[in-house]
Amino acid sequence: MEQYIDLHIHSCYSDGVHRPADLVAMAAGRGMKAIAIADHDSVEGIDEAVAAGLRSGVEVVPAVEFSVAYKHYRDIHLLGYFIEYKDCELERKLAEFRRRRDERARAIIDRINARLARENKSAITYEDICCIARNCISRLHIAETLVRNGAAANVQDAFKMYLIPYDVPKQYFPLEEALDEIRRLNGVSVLAHPPSISNDRNLMRSLILGWKKSGLDGIEVFNNLCFKDDMIFYESLAREQGMLMTGGSDFHGFEDDVEIGIGRGGLSVAYHLLHIMKDAAGKKGAVA
Ligand code: AMP
Ligand code: MN
Ligand code: MN
Ligand code: MN
Repeated sequence: MEQYIDLHIHSCYSDGVHRPADLVAMAAGRGMKAIAIADHDSVEGIDEAVAAGLRSGVEVVPAVEFSVAYKHYRDIHLLGYFIEYKDCELERKLAEFRRRRDERARAIIDRINARLARENKSAITYEDICCIARNCISRLHIAETLVRNGAAANVQDAFKMYLIPYDVPKQYFPLEEALDEIRRLNGVSVLAHPPSISNDRNLMRSLILGWKKSGLDGIEVFNNLCFKDDMIFYESLAREQGMLMTGGSDFHGFEDDVEIGIGRGGLSVAYHLLHIMKDAAGKKGAVA
C-alpha cells in the first residue's frame, strides 16, 4: 500500500497556528508516513517535531523555507530539506532575517495605521502582533491582528485592503547564495509552489533550467497553487531534467480549506518521492 507524505507544513515558529508536536499528531491521525516542518526563516520547531515523530511513528524531515530574490523577481520561495539545522552559521543568518522581518513589520504597521486613522478605525500595535507571533513575524500575523480588531472581515480581506497595498519588502536571500547555503548544509533544494512566480511556462522552464545550473535540486510539483495541468507540466520538466519532485499542503492552520496531507482536497504525495530525495541527500553526505 502506498504511503503518503506532506513536505510543506508551517508551525507556530513562523506563521503557522499549531505547535510542531500538534502538527505531528495531526499527521499521525491522518495516517501520514512522513512530514516536513518548513517554517519561514526558522528551524526552531524541528527538534520538537522530531521528538514527537519518534513517539508517534511519523518521520520528520528537517526543512526551512527561504524567501529569495533573483534578478527582478522577489519573494521566490526556496525549500531546503535534510539540512544540518543545528549549524551555528545557519542560525546566525536566520536570526538576521528574522530581525529584518521585525523591522519590516514595524514599518508595515505604521503604514497601515495611517490608513486605519483615515478610515476612523482603531490602530493596531506591534505588541498586538507579538501576542500571536513568536519571533518570526509574517504579514499573516498582521492580517490576523486586523481581523481580530475588526478592521477586516477575514485574512483574505486583510491582505487585499492592507497587506498588499502597504507592503514593505522583506530582506531576500539572493537565490544563488540560498542554494549555496542549502548545499553547504548538505541539504537538497526545492523550488516551492512555482506558479507563485509566473504562469508563463516557457519562462518558468528557462528560469528553472538556469537555477538547476546554480544547484537547484528539485521542484515542488504537488502544491496548492498548481492545477492538475501545472502538475503534469512540472512533473514532466522534473523527469526530463532529472530533478527531484516533492509536494506539500503549505498548511498554516488558519485556512478553512487546507488540510495536512490533502491540501485543498486533491493532494496526494507518495512516500517513494521522499525515498528518492533521501538517496539524493545521502549522495551529498546527509542521511536522515
Ligand atoms: P511574509 O513572509 O511576511 O511576506 O508573509 C507571507 C505569508 O503570508 C505567506 O507565507 C502566506 O502564509 C501569507 N499570505 C501571503 N499572501 C496571502 C494572501 N493573499 N492571503 C492569505 N495569506 C497570504
Ligand atoms: Mn506562510
Ligand atoms: Mn511559500
Ligand atoms: Mn510555505
